[in-house]
Amino acid sequence: MARPRICLLFAGGTIGMVRNKRTGALQPAESAVDIVASFPEIKKLVRLDFKMVVNIDSSNMTPVHWTQIAEKIHALYDQYDGFVVAQGTDTMAYTASALSYALQNLSKPVVFTGSLIPLNEIGSDGRNNLIYACMTATLDIAEVCMVFANAILRGNRAKKYHESFVAVFHSPNYPALGELGRPIALHDWRKKRRKRVLKFNPNFDPNISVMKLFPGFDPKILGKVIERGAHGIILEAFGPGNVAFLDESSIIKQIEKATAMGIPIVIANQMEKGVTNLSAYEAGYNAHKAGAISSKDMTTEATVTKLMWALAKTKKLPEIRKIMEKNLAGEIEE
Ligand code: ASP
Repeated sequence: MARPRICLLFAGGTIGMVRNKRTGALQPAESAVDIVASFPEIKKLVRLDFKMVVNIDSSNMTPVHWTQIAEKIHALYDQYDGFVVAQGTDTMAYTASALSYALQNLSKPVVFTGSLIPLNEIGSDGRNNLIYACMTATLDIAEVCMVFANAILRGNRAKKYHESFVAVFHSPNYPALGELGRPIALHDWRKKRRKRVLKFNPNFDPNISVMKLFPGFDPKILGKVIERGAHGIILEAFGPGNVAFLDESSIIKQIEKATAMGIPIVIANQMEKGVTNLSAYEAGYNAHKAGAISSKDMTTEATVTKLMWALAKTKKLPEIRKIMEKNLAGEIEE
């Protein structure tokens, strides 16, 4: 049987970095190190092609890069059995979430990976991560996922957690999709390879704000963000989505004002393993009554990218509410 065809898209990160001799800090190599040459044995398993997208620290990635990656995959979609995207870990959960909305109804896997140590340094985790990501791209999976240290996570459920080899990412509100052990175990069978029509929609509106509430948060700051013309606002609230509603610290008037102006206010939460529930307390229910939308069990990364994606599609508040509260790509449990 012919070996599966896999396309490796390179979008930067530590995996392709070198150390600056003067400062000791890691920075992108001038020409990306020969990534594919670092794991030649993969050729026994797959026919691998390499495509360069960009070579930057992922802190410099913007929605423009997400669109570029989605467009590349879309253009090459029929030529490959699976895709691997290598990029920096710092914003990987955002890119993976964004791609899960841009490329819905996938019939094959799009697998994100990267490394904590550059490929050209001793003890790099990059080699193994690339090998396991390529193996995952051949498996019976049809969604955007992430591979680190042998674990396969759903891309829009993952969060950067640690800078340790065993747990760079975790998936606080959804079980791992599988482990690349002996044997390979896939746990989630809902998104198997099958012929489906790809829904390609790679645009994002980055004009949003994300604000973390804290005791003493001045509601006027939220008012200023609304006035400056943000198209949408995410508030990381307390507990399961509670906000101040008493006296001068109340933000309810601001939520009402934004809603009246057609600006979506999405309430997320600050808990690591948290689910937003706006009917648990009066402090959340008041926000709901004022028009706020719940992020439910989405990660902040999945919420941010979904709001940008929704705003690129429509500016109508009832439609945005519908999109935000509906499951599009496994990011939310309905
Ligand atoms: N700063 C790097 C980046 O996100 C970290 C990494 O690659 O792990 O590009």
